[in-house]
Amino acid sequence: PLTSNDAIEEHRICVCVRARPLNKKELSVKDLDVITIPSKDVVMVHEPKQKVDLTRYLENQTFRFDYAFDRNSTNEMVYRFTAQPLVETIFERGMATCFAYGQTGSGKTHTMGGDFSGKNQDCSKGIYALSARDVFLMLKKPVYKKLDLQVFATFFEIYSGKVFDLLNRKAKLRVLEDGKQQVQVVGLQEREVKCTEDVLKLIEMGNSCRTSGQTSANAHSSRSHAVFQIILRRRGKMHGKFSLIDLAGNERGADTSSADRQTRLEGAEINKSLLALKECIRALGRNKPHTPFRASKLTQVLRDSFIGENSRTCMIATISPGMASCENTLNTLRYANRVK
Ligand code: ADP
Ligand code: MG
Repeated sequence: PLTSNDAIEEHRICVCVRARPLNKKELSVKDLDVITIPSKDVVMVHEPKQKVDLTRYLENQTFRFDYAFDRNSTNEMVYRFTAQPLVETIFERGMATCFAYGQTGSGKTHTMGGDFSGKNQDCSKGIYALSARDVFLMLKKPVYKKLDLQVFATFFEIYSGKVFDLLNRKAKLRVLEDGKQQVQVVGLQEREVKCTEDVLKLIEMGNSCRTSGQTSANAHSSRSHAVFQIILRRRGKMHGKFSLIDLAGNERGADTSSADRQTRLEGAEINKSLLALKECIRALGRNKPHTPFRASKLTQVLRDSFIGENSRTCMIATISPGMASCENTLNTLRYANRVK
């Protein structure tokens, strides 16, 4: 039976899944598609449809979410059902968060940041940019126009429990918690933005900063959480905040047995932060006394977004369709299933 708490939670937390198409690499090794999305909220992981001469690979498994987006979905469609409803929250003095969660290569950055494959560097269709576009549209509405709101953006990265400012040449920043449990990232650049184009420039700048100096862009970004925030201020005071997070790859659990100490520590840190995140989302707005905010840097810096009456969140769990990714996919679906 539903309790009143469940009703609140239902409204505040949206969890959805997005499957991408098989990519060139998967097609070239003849990986098989094991994902079917038979209706708008169901994901099935099953044996490949194609006849293969081996015995059963896995039991069919069915998961239900708020929404399920198949390989033909566009960022704009995913956006409409996930982040877009949260834009209004920050105008109504609320706090919103939107997470992309999934294994490396499943489409987190494609969904949040936009298309960064090869020469194509287009961030205008990612959820960061689409959210910014709608923030500026909302500002034009008479009811909000008269509030005289200013818009600011921040962009930072959490890597191995440390915070780096992507809008300030990766400056390493300290996180402080005052007596009233207010958390502050000291010196974080908050840039005022006047239009969507201003925001696109910051996203580009932050993204190039995120990957610079790395031999493989994904090798680095898969180990860090990227946090992009849109902050509304009224007479200098915070009015609302939208945090959009491209999480570290969740397959890092395997690293905890790696021979390399640094890799092992990174893996452990990622595991810890993703577990703490799940607990913090579950506790959203319920005033739970034992929410593990301090268990990781990620949940610590997002603390103010998980408490309070007017906080909402959505999680986009991204999955790779191939049989080779099956185990990671099932882990992603199980985690997403337990978030709510
Ligand atoms: P992640 O950030 O989760 O590691 P990426 O977003 O970098 O994964 O995606 C890996 C690759 O797959 C990229 O080349 C990206 O362009 C492509 N891709 C991801 N999602 C989709 C999609 N929905 N449709 C088409 N290509 C996609
Ligand atoms: Mg990525």
